Amino acid sequence: MKRTDAKKQLSRREAFHVLWADFRLCLREMPGLVLSRLAVRIFSAVSPYAGIWFSARLVDELAGDKDPQKLMLWAGLALICAALVSLASAFLERWQSTQGFTASRRLHRLYTDKFLRMDYVKCEDTAVQQHFATIEQNWSGPGRTVGDAMNILGGLVSAIVSILVGVGMTLSFFQSRVPPAGGALQVLDRPVMLILAAGLILLASMLPPLLLNRARQIETNLAGDHRLNNRLFGHFGYLGSTTKIAADIRLYGLVKFSDRYNNNKENTFHSAGLFAKLLRGKVGLLYASGVAASQLFGGMVYLYVCLKAWAGAFGIGAVTQYVASISRVASGVSELLSFAGKVRSEAPFIKLGLDFLNIPEEMYQGTLSVEKRRDREYEVEFRNVSFRYPGAEDFALQNVNLRFRVGSRLAVVGENGSGKTTFIKLLCRLYDPTEGEILLNGIDIRKYDPEQYYQVFAVVFQDWGLPAFRLRQIVAAGEGDPARVEECLRKVGFGEKLDSLPEGIETYITKDYDKHGVDLSGGEAQKVAIARALYKDAPFIILDEPTASLDPVAEAEIYEHFAEISGDRTAVYISHRLSSCKFCDEIAVFDRGRVVQQGSHEALLADTEGKYHALWNAQAQYYNQ
Ligand code: ADP
Repeated sequence: MKRTDAKKQLSRREAFHVLWADFRLCLREMPGLVLSRLAVRIFSAVSPYAGIWFSARLVDELAGDKDPQKLMLWAGLALICAALVSLASAFLERWQSTQGFTASRRLHRLYTDKFLRMDYVKCEDTAVQQHFATIEQNWSGPGRTVGDAMNILGGLVSAIVSILVGVGMTLSFFQSRVPPAGGALQVLDRPVMLILAAGLILLASMLPPLLLNRARQIETNLAGDHRLNNRLFGHFGYLGSTTKIAADIRLYGLVKFSDRYNNNKENTFHSAGLFAKLLRGKVGLLYASGVAASQLFGGMVYLYVCLKAWAGAFGIGAVTQYVASISRVASGVSELLSFAGKVRSEAPFIKLGLDFLNIPEEMYQGTLSVEKRRDREYEVEFRNVSFRYPGAEDFALQNVNLRFRVGSRLAVVGENGSGKTTFIKLLCRLYDPTEGEILLNGIDIRKYDPEQYYQVFAVVFQDWGLPAFRLRQIVAAGEGDPARVEECLRKVGFGEKLDSLPEGIETYITKDYDKHGVDLSGGEAQKVAIARALYKDAPFIILDEPTASLDPVAEAEIYEHFAEISGDRTAVYISHRLSSCKFCDEIAVFDRGRVVQQGSHEALLADTEGKYHALWNAQAQYYNQ
């Protein structure tokens, strides 16, 4: 398996830029969570100092005068302080976690909304889909995604607060001097010793994060492997419980075979795999050295402070205060350095998400209202329309000129790949023409408000999908009017099936969320999809290969009732099965992106040199038409 690098390295400047953009996004989308996180970080950076200070006073008193009243006072204040800190901390944590509940959903929603806003042609673009898949894998694997700026900047704030307060409480340490009685230990007051001590403290705090940053960077560079193996695990690890292919798995013994991909020694997560090797080797060594360095230098600080106290520079209580404060400063400096490391190691993951959310939306969004007409007199015309998919060399449609007669039934026929579906997607304004224009009642459709324009069409696409709602909700695309839902279902020939359902239109589709739910056959589900299009009651009804998964009886039923089903709507019927188009008023024949013929079935068939004639004869060999 090939090892892939996670990403291109970003410069420090770019990384900060990404972090700041992400933070602004978080602030806009989840201000409550940002505030609560910051509050928790600041509070947890400051609160330990209260305990440190009171304990120091208490120890001083114990080691000094031992005045019972003062001892009671300091002990009481220390207790009250600890109680208040715990209370406030619990309150802030709760605030943060309630805000956090919805954060992940909100982040998901950001991506879903983006998909809905995005130009449709980009939604279909495999590069865009892969981009999103990578985001999801980083998110579900190492958990690195948009929104991380909150944690990273939270670390910065807490580091700064820890350092400032800690330095404030340590200043007197450097000012207090060893009295003459301290003898040789007066050397500790020499500037060189102070500088050495400050240097050691700095080193103590800097070395661990530098080592850990290095370890983290190695892991970041391996994010590609992490993702790949997560994907393999996500697929092969659950193969045994995938009910859709349960029979194949048993009969072909696929689980064992899948172990090849999921549980072999090459897998980076295997105990003999890459990550384990790194943890036993370089990365493990870096982590261990980081922790050891921190302990060692921490010990030296302890030694220095104790020596000064022993020499009489300050009381025993101050030892606890200084050691604890210096440790807090050291951990603040550590956090600061690890912040700098994290900015660079996390920014590429955040950038991936931001880049996705910032994919430009280039389709012009008109504002014109679509006139509401009871007579359904909506006339659509294609004027010299050509369309090329982004990145494609050839035009999928070329110079299409076509006018829909209001209330008529148009069949669009042609071989696979001739441009029929592209034509429908242009008509519904899922794409904009590369050249030419499409007019609705004489006005370029780009000028209309897209939401209103979509209301003109009810489409059943080839790859329709039914969500696991109640039948009524599916057909009505909402709560809907039960009587009309039933009427639509019966119109498309679903009546018999409906009568067999104990809960009628209230039945859930699939058993995913209800044990009384029903699984529909492909043909039945397609009828429901057609009923949903009918319910929408739009001036245009479009059926894209509507009979592909219907059995011959159901197919005949749909044909017979097509006139009734479409009523006074303008209907467009796409099929590569010509026999299903005879009943349409007009047929447009597509060939390699062009409309090569147009007319009634009889007229087209009469042209023995035409494409329609050729297609008809080719299919007649298989069907008795
Ligand atoms: P039909 O519906 O007649 O089978 P399509 O409209 O689906 O034909 O396809 C017309 C042409 O456009 C084909 O060459 C097809 O490969 C190409 N095409 C369809 N969808 C895309 C897409 N999303 N990206 C690039 N090319 C596409």
